Amino acid sequence: MSEARVDLLLTGIGELVTHDPAHGAPSGLVRDAALLVADGRVAWAGSRLGLPRQLGDVETIDCGGRAVIPGFVDAHTHLVFGGHRADDFARRLHGASYAQVLAAGGGIHASVAATRLAATVDEPGLSLLDQSLARARRMVAFGTTTVEVKSGYGLDTAGERRMLEVASELPRHAGLDVVATFLGAHVVPASHRADRDGYLALLENEMLPACAPLARYCDVFCEDGAFSVDEARRVLVAGKRHGLAPRIHANQLGASGGARLAAEVGAVSADHLDHVDDGDIAALRAAGTVAVLLPGAALSMRTPPPPARRLWDAGLPVALATDCNPGTSYVESMQLVIALAVLELGLEPEEALWSATRGGALALELADRGWLGAGALADLVILDAESHLHLSYRPGGNLAWKVLKRGRLVYG
Ligand SMILES: [Zn+2]
Repeated sequence: MSEARVDLLLTGIGELVTHDPAHGAPSGLVRDAALLVADGRVAWAGSRLGLPRQLGDVETIDCGGRAVIPGFVDAHTHLVFGGHRADDFARRLHGASYAQVLAAGGGIHASVAATRLAATVDEPGLSLLDQSLARARRMVAFGTTTVEVKSGYGLDTAGERRMLEVASELPRHAGLDVVATFLGAHVVPASHRADRDGYLALLENEMLPACAPLARYCDVFCEDGAFSVDEARRVLVAGKRHGLAPRIHANQLGASGGARLAAEVGAVSADHLDHVDDGDIAALRAAGTVAVLLPGAALSMRTPPPPARRLWDAGLPVALATDCNPGTSYVESMQLVIALAVLELGLEPEEALWSATRGGALALELADRGWLGAGALADLVILDAESHLHLSYRPGGNLAWKVLKRGRLVYG
């Protein structure tokens, strides 16, 4: 253990999920455990019997036999948006397809209008920041300590920049880390419906230079009705020129070719992957691309769930995320995502929890989280349950008792 001053002691941990393979893959489970925090990081974690003796007078949380897990890393969200799309949802319930809703000016176009409007509002609770912050705070309450946030409801230079500025303000107010992604290529906006090439030129020559300083990744919605493989390649290559690593919405509604493109451009992640074949899977594995699966979208769209079992068994790193967005997955809880992954996608509870924490961290290239051992960030959830199994066994509620970010209480 390092000599750094210990700030916090967690005792009475009934079950500690470390994700340290030394304690057995994938959970690295330690029973009757304790954990020490110093300077926002885990200084030591292990069996209570191995706890260093001379700790002095240190702040202590007695977990009372509860389970402790790493904080969730939600690697795919669109949580900055204005308004909602309950009306789209009702239309889809009554038979309209996603493509029909989009073509009729609903879908992403409706959220662009609502987001642009919210960006002009200062009224408390109604501003774009306040609407987004309310969601971020609920995510924290469910145990999320790091979240990826995409732009994509501005679809012009000022609108995309404003979304990324709002994303950058969330950590200060909500107590979670944000990783920002530029998604100017979400759909072609109504203003450029007859001039796709003009929009792509705008994106390359004006939007990317203005937005790249506020983001780490560049994403594209590669799908029928959004962007073709060739258009998506153009966007991602341009993003790379501006220092943004690629990630991609791929093979959600059909075999879009996005998964192969992800492998071709060395994307950090390929997200959705509801429609992949063995060749797609082999290409992603060879490229080292993380498969980010979004069971909330399949639930909300009432489509078959992504093939998590096949992807995991093929040896792909799998991440689970909420895809929190106003149209196809208004889901804020990573706990619900874990339950869906177990009950609908066929992952084991241990695999689902790994994917929602360590897998998410890999998808965001963050080595310091998603696990709990010496040196990791002290981002963790104390569950109001004795085992992480309760996350899928008792779906639908909130099992977070306390949530800690860098060793500081942010919920509970
Ligand atoms: Zn998405």
